[in-house]
Amino acid sequence: MQYQSAAQFSKSSPCTNVPIHCPICPSSISQVPQTICKYNALCYLASEHSTGTTITGQLLVDIFISKEEEKALKFEAEITDLYRKEYNIPDTDGLLDGKKERDQTQFLQFHQTNLAPKDLR
Ligand SMILES: [Zn+2]
Repeated sequence: MQYQSAAQFSKSSPCTNVPIHCPICPSSISQVPQTICKYNALCYLASEHSTGTTITGQLLVDIFISKEEEKALKFEAEITDLYRKEYNIPDTDGLLDGKKERDQTQFLQFHQTNLAPKDLR
């Protein structure tokens, strides 16, 4: 299946919650890659890949949700901002502002400190 057009935000079709392949999981015996929903990616990463793995830049791009998309889907920006602040998740739109490396580092720090099981910190 092709999801390229569905993965692109537009005002007429704002939801980009498409299946993406997990680049960390090995493919199944039949060479089918593990598939996750974009909007569930953070929870998936927390539950399945919370230790000893590196989140690739491409995966960060693949799970990116713009504020414009959140707004179009009526996510309350204030609640999203508070959640990101509480869990030290960088503002995803910051990735587009030339701060990619810094924000990626923040994201990885978040991943290492907040997603790892408490007994491994
Ligand atoms: Zn995986």
